[in-house]
Amino acid sequence: MHSFHYSKGSLHCENVSLSQLTAEHGTPLYVYSAETFRDRFTKLDTAFEGIDHELAYAVKANSNLSVLRLLAGLGSGFDIVSGGELYRVIKAGGDPAKCTFAGVGKTRAEIEYALKEGIYSINVESEEEAAFISEVAVEMDLTAPIAFRVNPNVDAKTHKYISTGKSENKFGIDFEFIRAAYERASSLPNLQLKGLQMHIGSQLTSVEPFVEAVKKAAPLAAELKSKYGIEFFSIGGGIGIVYEEALASGKEAWWTEQDEATRPLTPERYASAIIPSLQDLGLKILLEPGRFIAGNAGVLLTECLYEKKGSSKTFKIVDSGMHHLIRPALYEGHHEIVPLIEPTGEMESVDVVGPICESGDFFCQNRELPRFSPGEAVALMSAGAYGMVMATTYNSHPLPAEILVDGAEAKLVRKRQTFDDLIEAEEVSI
Ligand SMILES: *Cc1c(COP(=O)(O)O)cnc(C)c1O
Repeated sequence: MHSFHYSKGSLHCENVSLSQLTAEHGTPLYVYSAETFRDRFTKLDTAFEGIDHELAYAVKANSNLSVLRLLAGLGSGFDIVSGGELYRVIKAGGDPAKCTFAGVGKTRAEIEYALKEGIYSINVESEEEAAFISEVAVEMDLTAPIAFRVNPNVDAKTHKYISTGKSENKFGIDFEFIRAAYERASSLPNLQLKGLQMHIGSQLTSVEPFVEAVKKAAPLAAELKSKYGIEFFSIGGGIGIVYEEALASGKEAWWTEQDEATRPLTPERYASAIIPSLQDLGLKILLEPGRFIAGNAGVLLTECLYEKKGSSKTFKIVDSGMHHLIRPALYEGHHEIVPLIEPTGEMESVDVVGPICESGDFFCQNRELPRFSPGEAVALMSAGAYGMVMATTYNSHPLPAEILVDGAEAKLVRKRQTFDDLIEAEEVSI
């Protein structure tokens, strides 16, 4: 599956030239491949076809309405973490009855909204939250479907900021308290104990932590089924993707493809390692993939403005930065950087930096990259997840536009912000 590749000397997304898109829409520009979204969804879905399962795409990875519409059309459910995300799912034509609602800090308004829309399950992160949901449900005179999130205390071996399944993380309820949580919740009014949920972290690149967590939690799920009649067990998201691949490998589309044999985590490997612990539970298994579906489906295109030679470094100053793609600054995320015009082989060691007044505003440091000059655009690969959703207008730069490519078609799915958009909600009132 090659959704991003060079063709006739210029980088394409499917059948659309990215240089053509920057000429038409300017930079910075996010571009997504519909084909990749479909491919990743289908691969993961197919890997689990042997058991009763459903994918609930983690909306926070990429919440563009057209992306949600595309996934809803494939039959996806959605894992949301706010009322705003539920609103997006509904606007995109998604089904609230296929939505699960996660997060440690749900407000009354969000709980009321989710219950009113008939959400599949609220995934509860503390006993206090369960008691509060019960209270709200009584007031609304309806039954709230809930699951508790168990914290299995497993080391996901990922960056500390995206690890969530250790007891020192704020997420979920400790294994030793979880049975008591269900017991107490079972006596609260207007609650239906519907499932068990966990999510141990993001960008996991080996299968072992998943196996350890599933093995630990599956017997608990079985016990909760026999005691309270729960119907689902959600094993969360977290499947990692390949961000970094050797430019030297000479492979076409090296940033999305890697030999299956050397790849640490594939849907098939993931599924075959954990299905044995799940297949006899008689529960519906939910998966909450975000990054796996969206990560390699998007790129961020940015134009080089200046080249600045310091005494020890060469800086390529580009028109995007941490305000549009914060992963490098926030958790040392790596993105391959690729010129839109196929490089001829000349390399140089550079820092690619943005215009923001922060020293953390860089995309890479001391990296060997194909030479590119001011006026040329480059693509930051694998920027489809946790990219645009974390973009801000810091330093009052308008947000980028977003394009969704499908075959030979490129649709503008989010307009570039204007200066007027930046100040729209503000008043000069003194
Ligand atoms: C963020 C999140 C996910 C998705 O994580 P990915 O690493 O993007 O797959 C799934 N479930 C929950 C509860 C989350 O918070």
